[in-house]
Amino acid sequence: MKKATKMAALMLALAMMTTTLTACSGNADSNSSSTTTDTTVTNSQTQESESTPAETGAQEAAPEADDNTLTFGTNAEFPPFEFVTSSGVIDQYDGIDMAIAKQIAETNGMTAEIENMEFASLLVALQNGQIDAAIAGMTITDERKEEADFSIPYYTATQVMIMREDSDIASANDLEGKKICVIEGYTGEVCVRDMGYPYEAFKKGTDAIMELVNGKCDVVILDSATSQKYVSDNEGLKIVEDPSAFESEEYAIAVKKGNTELLDKINTAIDAMLADGTIAELGAKYTEELSAE
Ligand code: GLN
Repeated sequence: MKKATKMAALMLALAMMTTTLTACSGNADSNSSSTTTDTTVTNSQTQESESTPAETGAQEAAPEADDNTLTFGTNAEFPPFEFVTSSGVIDQYDGIDMAIAKQIAETNGMTAEIENMEFASLLVALQNGQIDAAIAGMTITDERKEEADFSIPYYTATQVMIMREDSDIASANDLEGKKICVIEGYTGEVCVRDMGYPYEAFKKGTDAIMELVNGKCDVVILDSATSQKYVSDNEGLKIVEDPSAFESEEYAIAVKKGNTELLDKINTAIDAMLADGTIAELGAKYTEELSAE
């Protein structure tokens, strides 16, 4: 991708959120501001090319899928990005990411299909060809970049602290001695682990929030937009931010390492959606929709 285009996309992403683009306790991608796609080009030689030149579409990642289907893996327990509803934009799946996935497929004359799985299984599913791409509010991290190639970022988020309204936690320094809950495999877990605090990890965000509501944990560390949703759904909770401890993260779509053909298509579509305001609109729409429920 051209540097100018990348910069334009980045500036739009920044305009959407007012956080700074730095790492989360040294674990999120430390080169995130302009180099997120640099590894994709050099990995092209590792691409498994079973398709003939006459075949179109990047189907190497999912040879069993038909040429017109783009299979996205997600973990539909991360509102407002992905959740299950009665009638979603793709089958029963709805949210910002689901709308983005649908548009990426349609821009390329394809149909988006969703495979819902555990968050921790997504990168493995990419590697074994079960899915073509993973879209799951997934933060680019150096560790994950070892396993997959990432698109340009489409959303900037941060970890925040959710607590009961009467809590005296005012900054991350106050986490000392508190019962901290995180969600297994999320960047929030990595942040807390790096800070050196003991914590309990739950499989689902809703499980951690229930522990908080029931007084069994003092604070949940979770991504900002999803936290807003839980706080508006549950009485008596509040959010405290600490940008000095939890710096910003970037969400991007992951593809199998070396699948540059699909990555290029995804990047082109994201670029267009950032430039024409589609992603910002989706962010506003799903945040309002969910908090109005
Ligand atoms: N952004 C967080 C991460 O990448 C959480 C993502 C999610 O739960 N879907 O770990």
